[in-house]
Amino acid sequence: SIAYVNGAYTPLEDARVSILDRGFLFADGVYEVAAVIDGRLIDNEAHLARLERSLAELRLESPVTMAEMVEIERALVTRNGITEGLVYLQVTRGAADRDFSFPRGVRPTLVAFAQKKNILASPAAQTGVKVITVPDLRWSRRDIKSVALLAQVLAKQAATEAGCQEAWMVDADGFVTEGSSSTAFIITRAGVIVTRPNSSAILPGCTRRAVMALAAEQRLSVEERAFSVDEAKAAAEAFLTSASNLVLPVVEIDGSPIGAGVPGDSAKRLRALYLDFARATAV
Ligand code: PMP
Repeated sequence: SIAYVNGAYTPLEDARVSILDRGFLFADGVYEVAAVIDGRLIDNEAHLARLERSLAELRLESPVTMAEMVEIERALVTRNGITEGLVYLQVTRGAADRDFSFPRGVRPTLVAFAQKKNILASPAAQTGVKVITVPDLRWSRRDIKSVALLAQVLAKQAATEAGCQEAWMVDADGFVTEGSSSTAFIITRAGVIVTRPNSSAILPGCTRRAVMALAAEQRLSVEERAFSVDEAKAAAEAFLTSASNLVLPVVEIDGSPIGAGVPGDSAKRLRALYLDFARATAV
């Protein structure tokens, strides 16, 4: 496949950055992932807006404009013949002698690649996913989409080893923050959709935002508040959202079945609604 590195399109196996790149040495960088369906980018404006915000929080200047960023994303979709999958973008503070302080006069590194992935016909949408809970070991600026993902790597590995597909991370007070790479939702027995409010405790999910707007349009009740693991286990339904998984029902948490232990009707409906939204807004 073809990747992008600092202005050049190059076969993925030849795509290289320096071992002095600050993304590699310090995780001094940010990233974004947008889904591709029918060869078009889904909700991409929201992803680029979040990228700009992440960059600003790190005082990192993008080496290209956001208009150019879209052109790079589209070029990768086209050159790789992606009809369904994702595009990954990463900006780091560039390569410089190893020193914690920002280097002067160094151009940030921009790399991007695209991957094929079954998004629409995801088996997990039919079966639902199983989740374990783990302590949230991350730093206190989780609203920044930083490439420092060690805690999420360890969380997802724990899920995999437990035969689960996602780990929900739990704060010191016993409340779920979010999934290792997704936003966490429950639906109470009274039919209220609950998800944690945006703050520095979680990443503001693009899919979260769209799903909440769609739920509001349908006059479903949505509450932004923290929920505990116990409340989640007792919920009527649970689901997760992310760009590359859209909406996926959660059918088990720490071995306890949620509701009837099968994908819930509301989660399935929200997935269908999000898919319509995605297709309608794809560019
Ligand atoms: N939280 C975390 C920690 C994530 O990594 C992701 C995936 N980007 C999400 C939430 C979901 O965000 P989005 O819907 O924008 O993909």
